[in-house]
Amino acid sequence: MNDVAIQIAQLEFLTKLQRILGEGLFSASYKYALLLSLAELSVEQSIPSDGTLRIELDELAGRFITLYWRQVAPFKGRLLAQNAGRQASIISKISAFKSVAPTLAVARSRTQWPRLVHEVGRLLVEMPLWKLQRVGEERLDFLYEERLTDRSIVLRPGVAACFRAQFGVVQALVQSAWLSFVQRLPPNRPILGSMTDLADFLFGAERSGLRVIADGLLGLQKGGCFYCGGRVRDGGDVDHFIPWSRYPLDLGHNFVLAHASCNQDKRDMLAAAGHLQRWIERNDSQAGVLDEVFNAARFPFDADASSSVAEWAYENAERAGALVWVRRNGQTSRLTAEWREYLK
Ligand SMILES: [Zn+2]
Repeated sequence: MNDVAIQIAQLEFLTKLQRILGEGLFSASYKYALLLSLAELSVEQSIPSDGTLRIELDELAGRFITLYWRQVAPFKGRLLAQNAGRQASIISKISAFKSVAPTLAVARSRTQWPRLVHEVGRLLVEMPLWKLQRVGEERLDFLYEERLTDRSIVLRPGVAACFRAQFGVVQALVQSAWLSFVQRLPPNRPILGSMTDLADFLFGAERSGLRVIADGLLGLQKGGCFYCGGRVRDGGDVDHFIPWSRYPLDLGHNFVLAHASCNQDKRDMLAAAGHLQRWIERNDSQAGVLDEVFNAARFPFDADASSSVAEWAYENAERAGALVWVRRNGQTSRLTAEWREYLK
């Protein structure tokens, strides 16, 4: 496809997605979580040459639990409703699990975790998976064919590529629809305060385990800041190499330790190609030590997914002619194709 054809395909994709969000029937918030799960998994996995993407039910269920995990914490002392009637049963299951496993990392290490994943998978099949693509009487099954093959669904050709190219837009659309769904539910009205509070509660980062990671990374970096190399004296900040605002998933390899001042100066920008090169070298050459650090912090990690996310982020930034962060005091430069030498 040429550039124009690709842009048209992406616009059609977004238009259908908006129809699902705007016209579909939402009695629970499952469909939002399902859409975000599909979008995230599309970014994290490499797409085969035929343009389809096979996603295992267990993998989908695991991501689905991750998205709900923080939402089953009490908001101002109460569990938020995610369903128009009785509390959604997936929520009750995840909430029950969370009462015996305080963090997601601890939960994943529990022997009962696979059973939770299996049960959520079963509910996905019963509830949102075959309903997501219904709009009134119409079937808009442009995302995937509505059947399981080897306990997997298969995204139609081009769908994963559209999710990758438009991830930021998809995420904003789905999150804002989910946010207003939760706000409109009558049982939530007395609990909810300002919109910003609620958005952060529903979609913010999980912070637990970050101190252990900080100490581990500081050792690995021999006490120096990842970006400028200067000595870190006050413990430093754990920086998301690919900024959280661009891709809201905490995976171990995405973390580097930096001066608080370097971290704040970088803000939501991508780091310049030279930093990318060092980040990839670090992930390759220190793979064993990094695994130990993440395991000690009981933090999820997946080196291939992290580089796939990085590739996605730099690809989009290059296409957009974005500025990247070079060093403190706001020094930036335009991203060139140089980064491609380091990733791939
Ligand atoms: Zn620094």
